[in-house]
Amino acid sequence: MSIDWEQSPTGHTPKLSREPATIITPTHTYDLVIIGAGSGGYAAARTARDLGASVALVDAGPLGGLCILRGCMPSKTLIATGDAAHQIRHAHDLGVNAGEPVVDFPAVMERKRETIAGFADYRIAGIETFPVYSGAARFLSQNDVEVGGDILRSRRFVIATGSIVAPAVVPGLIEAGYFDSDGALELAEPPKSLVVLGGGYIGSELSQFFARIGVPVTILLRSRHLLSGEDEDIGLGLTEYFRAEGIPVETRALVHRVSVEDGMKVVHYTQDGVEKTHRAHEIFYALGRVPNIAGLDLEKAGVAAHPILGIEVDDTMRTTNPNVFAVGDVNGKYLLVHVAIQQGEVAARNAINDGDERIDYSLSKTHTVFTDPQVAIVGDTEKELIAKNIPFLKASYPFNDHGKAIAIGRTQGFVKMLASPEDGKILGTAILGPEASDLIHSAIVAMSFGATVFEYMKIPHLHPTLAEILTYPAEEIAELITIARRPLAAAP
Ligand SMILES: Cc1cc2nc3c(=O)[nH]c(=O)nc-3n(C[C@H](O)[C@H](O)[C@H](O)COP(=O)(O)OP(=O)(O)OC[C@H]3O[C@@H](n4cnc5c(N)ncnc54)[C@H](O)[C@@H]3O)c2cc1C
Repeated sequence: MSIDWEQSPTGHTPKLSREPATIITPTHTYDLVIIGAGSGGYAAARTARDLGASVALVDAGPLGGLCILRGCMPSKTLIATGDAAHQIRHAHDLGVNAGEPVVDFPAVMERKRETIAGFADYRIAGIETFPVYSGAARFLSQNDVEVGGDILRSRRFVIATGSIVAPAVVPGLIEAGYFDSDGALELAEPPKSLVVLGGGYIGSELSQFFARIGVPVTILLRSRHLLSGEDEDIGLGLTEYFRAEGIPVETRALVHRVSVEDGMKVVHYTQDGVEKTHRAHEIFYALGRVPNIAGLDLEKAGVAAHPILGIEVDDTMRTTNPNVFAVGDVNGKYLLVHVAIQQGEVAARNAINDGDERIDYSLSKTHTVFTDPQVAIVGDTEKELIAKNIPFLKASYPFNDHGKAIAIGRTQGFVKMLASPEDGKILGTAILGPEASDLIHSAIVAMSFGATVFEYMKIPHLHPTLAEILTYPAEEIAELITIARRPLAAAP
C-alpha cells in the first residue's frame, strides 16, 4: 500500500493506492518518535516518558528550539535594552535628568548571546536525557522515519517541526537584500535607518526596539493599524502610541516592489491610490511565518498539510493519519509557546493512552505583545464575540485615570472587560498598557474558574497597584447588570 496525493480545497489530501510493498528494516524501535525537539516536541517527549513510554527525539538542529534560540527569549532580551534606553530618555518626567543614553550595541548583543546560551544549555541538557537522532527526518512509511541513515520504527509519531520565516514575495526584495527576525536578532551593528514591512507582533516589538536604541524606523503595513488581528481600539491605540514616540506607521500601504538607488533600499508602495516610496539603509521583512514541512515526505505517512495553514489536526492533535500527531507552529493553530507545550502534552497522552483528550483553546489562545505599552488578551475579543453572535456588555478604563499608573508615570492605554449580559460571566479581557503581559494573569485565573464580574469584584486587590485597574470595568459591568435586573418602579 502506498499513498498518492490529490489537490483538495484545504491542500493535499492523501489517497491510498495499491502498490507492491517495499520491505523496510528498522534500526531502532520506540513507542513514540517525536520529530522536532522545540517547545512542542520536548513537552510531548517528557509527557510520554512520564507515562512509561520509550521515546526518541529527532532534530535537525541546532538544538534548543525557536523560542530560546531565535524567538521569545532573544527578542525579549533585546527589548529590555530598548525599554531601558526609553526610560532613561524619559526619566526627566520623574525629575531625573539623565540625558540621551548611549547604547553599546556589541555589549547588548553579547548580553543576548550569553543569556540565550544559558537558556539553551539548560534545555539541551534536558533534551539529551532522551535518545536524540540528529538530522532532518523524512517518512518512509506510516511507521518508519529515516534520519541520517537510521530508520526509526514506531506505532505513533508526533511532528513538531515548527515554522520558518515566510518566503519573501515582494519583487526586488531578494536582490536588494533584507533581514528577517532571525537576522534582526543577530546584527553586528544597528542599521543606520530601517523600514519594516509588516505590523504583526514580531514587526511591532522589534521595530520599537530598534527605534528606542536610536535607529530611525518606519513601518509599512497593509492594514489599518498595527496588530491587524486585534480589536480596533487596541490596534489603533498602539499605532498612535508608536507615532507619538516618533515611529512613523504608514497604514494601508500596499508594497509592490523594492529597488536600490544610490546605495539606499527603496520600497515602492501605494497608499490610498497614491504611489509612494520610502528609502532606508535596511529592510526588515516581518511578514509572518509558515509551517516547516518541507522534506518530511508527509504523503508517505498519510498526513495532509497545507503549505500556509500547516498540518491538518483535530482537537486531539491527530492528523489525517490517527497514529501521527502534529503540535506547535507546524499545525498553524496559534504560534505561541504555551500552546505548543499544551498541544505536545495532549498529543503525548493521546498517543500513549490511545486517548481522546481534546484541547480547548478558549483560554489558551490568550496572547501578549511585548511592545510598550504592552498588549495582552484573554478569552474572546469584541471581533470574535460579534462574529460568533454572542451578546456582551463592555466596559473599559484608562490608565491615565488610575492612581498607581499616574504615580509611576505610565499612563498609556486602557483595560477592557467583556461579559455576558445574562449573568456577568467574563468572556474576554484586553489590556493595552504597562505590564499588560503580567496584569492579564489575574483575568486568566478568574476566567479559568468561570468567574463573573460580581465574583471578580470580590477578589481582594492591593492598593495602590496597576492590577487593581481591572476591578473598575468589572464594577461598571456589574452595575449595568444590577440596574437592568431592578424591577421597574411602580407607576404612580
Ligand atoms: C522573533 C520571535 C519572537 C517570538 N516571541 C514569542 C513570545 O514572546 N511568546 C510566544 O508565546 N511565542 C513567541 N514566538 C513564537 C514561538 O517561538 C513559537 O510559537 C514556538 O517556539 C514554536 O515551538 P515549536 O515546538 O512548534 O517549534 P520550534 O521550537 O521551532 O521547534 C521545531 C524543531 O524542529 C526541528 N526540525 C525542523 N525540521 C525538522 C526535520 N525535518 N526533522 C527533524 N527536526 C526538524 C528544528 O530544528 C527545531 O528544533 C516568537 C517567535 C519569533 C520568531
